[in-house]
Amino acid sequence: MVATVEKPTSAVAPRRRQREINLRIPGPTTLPPLVRRALSGQMINHRGPEFAALQDETVAGVRRVFRTQNEILFFPGAGTGGLEAALVNSFSPGDAVLCITVGSFGERWCEIARAFGLQVEQMAWPWGSAADPAVVADRLAGGPPVKGVMITHNETSTGVTNPVGEIAPAVHRAGALLLVDCVSSMGAIPCETDGWGVDVAITGSQKAWMIPPGMTMLSVSPRAWEATKTAKLPRSYWDFQAALEFQKKGQTPYTPAITQMYGLRAALRMMDEEGLENVFRRHHEIADYTRRGIRRLGLQLAADLRYVSDTVTAVVAPEGVDMKLVHKRLRDEHGVILATGQEHWRETHFRIGHLGYVRRSEIQQALRALGEVLGR
Ligand SMILES: *Cc1c(COP(=O)(O)O)cnc(C)c1O
Repeated sequence: MVATVEKPTSAVAPRRRQREINLRIPGPTTLPPLVRRALSGQMINHRGPEFAALQDETVAGVRRVFRTQNEILFFPGAGTGGLEAALVNSFSPGDAVLCITVGSFGERWCEIARAFGLQVEQMAWPWGSAADPAVVADRLAGGPPVKGVMITHNETSTGVTNPVGEIAPAVHRAGALLLVDCVSSMGAIPCETDGWGVDVAITGSQKAWMIPPGMTMLSVSPRAWEATKTAKLPRSYWDFQAALEFQKKGQTPYTPAITQMYGLRAALRMMDEEGLENVFRRHHEIADYTRRGIRRLGLQLAADLRYVSDTVTAVVAPEGVDMKLVHKRLRDEHGVILATGQEHWRETHFRIGHLGYVRRSEIQQALRALGEVLGR
């Protein structure tokens, strides 16, 4: 099956083109038809009762997916904004934090912490590995105290899912706040916000949520709220207290991302209908199918097999193959868009996204195309 991709030549062409594309990157992800329809909703007064109802429904739905009783806050912005928001509401300049990294997104979060003047101790694992709970526990039991621990749940650059649940107890014993980047896991892989005692969990609209980029969602535990009261890092737009105060009145401090919330309402109804456990199971089965297919092509997974991600698969590029050309052929001849590696993995690895609105047939087509292109 060869899907031809036409160059857009008129205002009508891009629509046709988009439908034929198999977008296999780990976000932004493909939108379901129901969500696309919801996105065309007319604007409403963001200080009126319709908005209050929209906010109530979406906050409650997101709370269920986060598996938490904690407060849920939305901010228009990228996931990275949510990562910044978590820090500025939790800490004061000079506070010591332990930043656990296994790839590019963890490293980015460390950089943000440094930019705000936190005293950052980075515990880095090589790309492809997961953080070792025993090593983290040793450090927290032995070394100088830290106010918080930051960790990426699912490292999108390497296709690794960190065992956050096994790391959390040591963080709690140390009396530190647990901040978790769940941008590419929440809604696809079980992320037990309350079960693990995550103080601030952060996600982004364009990953597993099946809606466009532009909104970050966070959960804030009672302990994190206490910390917010004394946290002195500069913040204005990202202020949690202002956001919650307005949410209680059915509003937001600034103009909300109404369109994303229309999409989110539709997406949450879809997730409810499928059942969250079934959503998780679908992601696991499709990820497993992807991994088996990659191996059948004679390719090697980049991630430690014990911690492979169910939302993104990172693959070692075959030796001597020009991956730029492979990506181009996949795109031009098959309509398949894969993600390149990130940073020093750019040329040596590639990634397949399988999160959100994804079906097995799309992976099948992508793998078949990959086999065909690599076979030449
Ligand atoms: C995508 C992603 C981010 C960043 O999200 P943006 O919306 O691009 O800022 C952060 N962390 C992880 C794990 C991600 O996958």
